[in-house]
Amino acid sequence: MHTFIPYRRLKDIFLIQGEELDHLRVRRVKRGEKVGAIWEEELYLCELEGISKTEARLRIIERLETKRPSVKIRLVQAVPVELKTFETILQKSTELGVQEVVPLITERSFRNKEIIEKKRERWERIVLESMKQCKRPYRLSLREPISIEEFKPEDEINLVLDNFSEGRRIKDLDLKEAKSVSLVVGPEGGFSKRDVDMFKDLGLVFVKLEPHVLRTDTAAVVGIGLIVNLADP
Ligand code: SAH
Repeated sequence: MHTFIPYRRLKDIFLIQGEELDHLRVRRVKRGEKVGAIWEEELYLCELEGISKTEARLRIIERLETKRPSVKIRLVQAVPVELKTFETILQKSTELGVQEVVPLITERSFRNKEIIEKKRERWERIVLESMKQCKRPYRLSLREPISIEEFKPEDEINLVLDNFSEGRRIKDLDLKEAKSVSLVVGPEGGFSKRDVDMFKDLGLVFVKLEPHVLRTDTAAVVGIGLIVNLADP
């Protein structure tokens, strides 16, 4: 089922235009075909009622129940030098139910804030596309980039993934009652000694994954996947 984001609702009709209309055409959706629509953080089952040059009309059939992870996850991701990798991470974070992604500038990460800010629009679009693909109706909030000095560990559990640390294994943490967890992940070149010292000062809990050293995107995905799983009551 293809899913779209309407721009307007009129009782039991959703209106689609612009880029979303282009998508509907590319996907060759036929009149009477069932489609999904994301509206005000809810997912609806609809049927394509009509399509003109400028607009498509979806008739709402019903609102669908959707689930969320039981824990609020904040991914604090060092911006990879290979910026495209950040796009993969955003996409997978959306699929996995992450609430918030904070681009982090570390000693060895991509460091140009201006360029990162210029990517925002493209990154927001990647999140939206991913939401449609995985039928996630609630937003993922993409925060402004910050440096470690600006990072405040304000979640109930604040973890940092570090392959060099003598950290604990994620699966040994007790996340059953956790309401909010943040996970800090390093860039391709890992964290510097200075980064690590700052995380220690902030009181973060160091965790490691086994058995190998993972790429930053793999580490983020596996880390989040484990947290979602362990926190599910
Ligand atoms: N260049 C480093 C590897 C960095 S991997 C080296 O050669 O050792 C990039 C990031 O992914 C790390 O900073 C860490 O946050 C995370 N990561 C990768 N593998 C990990 C593991 N086994 N345990 C914990 N974190 C890991």
